[in-house]
Amino acid sequence: MLISKGKNHGLHMFVVPIRDPKTLKPYPGVIVGDLGEKIGINGVDNGFVMFNKYYLPRENQLDKLGGVDENGDYETPFKDPKKRFGASLGILSGGRVHITTISTNYLQKAIVIAIRYSAIRKQFGPENSIEEIPVLEYQQQQIRLLPYLAATYAMRIFCNWFSASHVTMSINSVDDDGPARGIELHALSSCIKPLFGWTARDGIQNCREACGGHGYLKAAAIGELRNDNDANCTYEGENSLLLQQTSNWLLGIWPKRYETGIADTPYGSIDFLKNVDQLLNEKCVANMPEELTNHITLIKTYKWLTAYILKMTYEKVTRLKAEGKDNFQAKNDSQSYNAVSLAIIYAENFVLNHFYQTAIKFEDAACRGVLLDLVSLYGAWMLERHLSSLYMGGYMSGEMGWWLREGVLKLCARITPQAIALVDTLAPPDWCLNSVLGTADGQVYKNIQEHVMTYPGAMSRPTWWRDVVFWQTYVPSKL
Ligand SMILES: Cc1cc2nc3c(=O)[nH]c(=O)nc-3n(C[C@H](O)[C@H](O)[C@H](O)COP(=O)(O)OP(=O)(O)OC[C@H]3O[C@@H](n4cnc5c(N)ncnc54)[C@H](O)[C@@H]3O)c2cc1C
Repeated sequence: MLISKGKNHGLHMFVVPIRDPKTLKPYPGVIVGDLGEKIGINGVDNGFVMFNKYYLPRENQLDKLGGVDENGDYETPFKDPKKRFGASLGILSGGRVHITTISTNYLQKAIVIAIRYSAIRKQFGPENSIEEIPVLEYQQQQIRLLPYLAATYAMRIFCNWFSASHVTMSINSVDDDGPARGIELHALSSCIKPLFGWTARDGIQNCREACGGHGYLKAAAIGELRNDNDANCTYEGENSLLLQQTSNWLLGIWPKRYETGIADTPYGSIDFLKNVDQLLNEKCVANMPEELTNHITLIKTYKWLTAYILKMTYEKVTRLKAEGKDNFQAKNDSQSYNAVSLAIIYAENFVLNHFYQTAIKFEDAACRGVLLDLVSLYGAWMLERHLSSLYMGGYMSGEMGWWLREGVLKLCARITPQAIALVDTLAPPDWCLNSVLGTADGQVYKNIQEHVMTYPGAMSRPTWWRDVVFWQTYVPSKL
């Protein structure tokens, strides 16, 4: 907080020198140390730091959006403190925006390894068949991997745009629409960081299990990805808690939904509120699985679902307040099933729309077709988890729920023949993937054999072999 002449001007940023560059010792007034080994990302040193009457020169303010002059008077390019706050929220979202990329990178590596391995690993086969079939041919293997392949494409495309948008917003933060962009970007990063962190968490675990026992080898490299991604669910805001930033913003918008315009949503994330009363009266009209997994139907269904959950959450908070609960308690008692789902569904809706808008513009028709299948799979697979809400809200019948599931399975089967080409597009070079299961040449068994046979000590007797073989010569203690 920046406090000047007795007034608190809120959150501000400073550059804080920790160590003297000539000696690397901490400056007087600074206590700093290392936190020790963590369960992942040990290439990053995390530490603790304490300050005791530690003074910084005024020049250390990062004061583009506001700071004090030499007399201690506060100056800012914004007349309205709320707007300054909005712009700084957007800039401070940088960590979360870039974590979406980190989660995507981990999942991207894991999905390449698991799909390449699943195309090589053969187990059993149809009756009377001599040849066994690759495990990727099995429906259950497909549904554990292909939705995450679709998710990786959606996430990769999204986070490239998201990072660039954050940089542009930061550079132009003092422009007229800077504060609105900052606020919306904050709301988006507060739910998309959790969405991507959790998608990567579940996807990487599925990839690990999809590779069976070999997936548990350290040399498969999936375990490390899992541990490293874990931190993404906690730092820069614990995922579950962070979602409140988004849901609170949306709950504030709902009563103003008829006045909300383009200026309030420079990124278009609340476009689902246009004609919302009419939207909420609509019902799904699909007649078969293919219609339900059509991207246009999916986009519309998500729009309805986002509006519906927002309305239900707002009504719950309002009801609890009417029953006498204060704002804190009413919001707290509306998290599970309501506000948390709201923030996640809002994130999914936005990412799905972005994926669709990118895929539909792809010039090459054949590639566009495959990308649109991925859009459908991503959307239908996510939506399947919200079937209960779609049913409870009267948007879909129970039968439609089964069609949606059938549609997901059909999409998985349709995308499977393209799966290797799709992961080859995502794959980093072998040295970077660094997995015995995922090399581009498909030589899984050769790699595993080489790794196991050359592992230090793999072929030698244990160092304590004498204790086992000559146990009868063991001399008991004289004590
Ligand atoms: C690898 C790593 C690196 C980090 N690097 C940095 C760094 O560089 N700089 C830095 O400042 N910090 C850093 N952190 C700290 C990190 O930002 C915090 O750990 C994180 O924001 C969560 O806060 P907390 O640990 O205080 O969790 P807590 O707030 O103690 O949360 C514990 C649990 O309580 C729940 N909870 C808390 N409040 C509520 C509520 N109101 N409603 C419902 N549930 C609630 C949370 O959801 C969580 O499940 C790092 C953490 C990690 C793991």
